[in-house]
Amino acid sequence: MHEVNLRIPGPVPLPDNIRAAIAAPVINHRGDSFAELFERMSHNMRTCLKTKSDVYFITSSGTGVMEMAVANTISQGDKVLCVSIGWFGDRFADIALAYGADVEKMRYDAGVAADADEVRAKLRELKNVKAVLITHNESSTGVCNPLKELCQVVRAESDALILVDAVSSAGGIELETDEWGIDVVTTAAQKAWIAPAGISVIAFSKKAWQAYEQSKVPKYYFDIGHYRQYGERKQTPFTPCVTAMFGLACTLERLGSGDIDNFIAAHSDVADKVRAGVRSMGLEILPHDVKYASNTVTAVKLPTDIDGVGFLRRALDEHRVEFGDGPGDLKGKVFRIGHLGWLDAKQIDGALEVASMLLSEMRG
Ligand SMILES: *Cc1c(COP(=O)(O)O)cnc(C)c1O
Repeated sequence: MHEVNLRIPGPVPLPDNIRAAIAAPVINHRGDSFAELFERMSHNMRTCLKTKSDVYFITSSGTGVMEMAVANTISQGDKVLCVSIGWFGDRFADIALAYGADVEKMRYDAGVAADADEVRAKLRELKNVKAVLITHNESSTGVCNPLKELCQVVRAESDALILVDAVSSAGGIELETDEWGIDVVTTAAQKAWIAPAGISVIAFSKKAWQAYEQSKVPKYYFDIGHYRQYGERKQTPFTPCVTAMFGLACTLERLGSGDIDNFIAAHSDVADKVRAGVRSMGLEILPHDVKYASNTVTAVKLPTDIDGVGFLRRALDEHRVEFGDGPGDLKGKVFRIGHLGWLDAKQIDGALEVASMLLSEMRG
């Protein structure tokens, strides 16, 4: 049977070299070869995230490192501003609520990017904001926020920490952690990093460490202090998913030795191609302004005369192409095409062909 052409915004398909890497024998996570792996990966990840901050590899999905970002910087009752443009932004706000923050949420409609002027106005209205939570790339709607501008505004208007969900952007979309003044960046192996799920990444600035010292919320597994302590001996505090790390290490070896900017440019080219393909089918993308269209996932509006659920089912059953569904009440009205990580032209072109063919068939 043909493998499924997995066109969702993560987990991403893995090419042969990564599959071979993750098939390597398991190693002792307290031994010398792990320390070497850890050292190389940390160095390469800092290069890719454009940061001098400490980076840590955490055995969890992406949500775990979003939780770490919050749990290690705030205390109960702290004012937190969450700028949400969709499903993942809402999740960030829910995490802050779960830890007892006083959360103020700015919520934009599906397809709309956050507006820097509105964030400025909100920060002027609120007092003593401890942290601002921002999704870089909202995978549910295919919208990429103007993160640099948003960070500039937060820096200019407040003393707040900037915590960023870069889970589906880092590696594939421009992200200048230090230059843009981001305190905490989070990402996960199964997105642009061409690795299996199981390892996620958190970068933590000096200012974030100062906040950590004051943070009073209870935590244990996700207490970043353990990761700092063990990181000094190039280890993780708890047993890491070394198998996923082998895959991630492979991609990082390539990107960390100077290829990260080319990789980001390649994502931009592929995204242009996907958007052109969508236009040529006579369809529109969900983002209201193409300026904010994501370079890792494209959300496409289906014509109202098409049964969207049937479209996704037929793509999978008849053509082995698996697209993502629309978020929430856009289920069946929008479909998503993941184009991150392994940018294999055959798979991406093939998926576009299948979409185009099905659309003309289903429109009759
Ligand atoms: C995938 C993703 C996450 C994390 O999801 P997990 O399933 O926990 O790995 C968070 N934010 C965004 C924007 C994502 O795309």
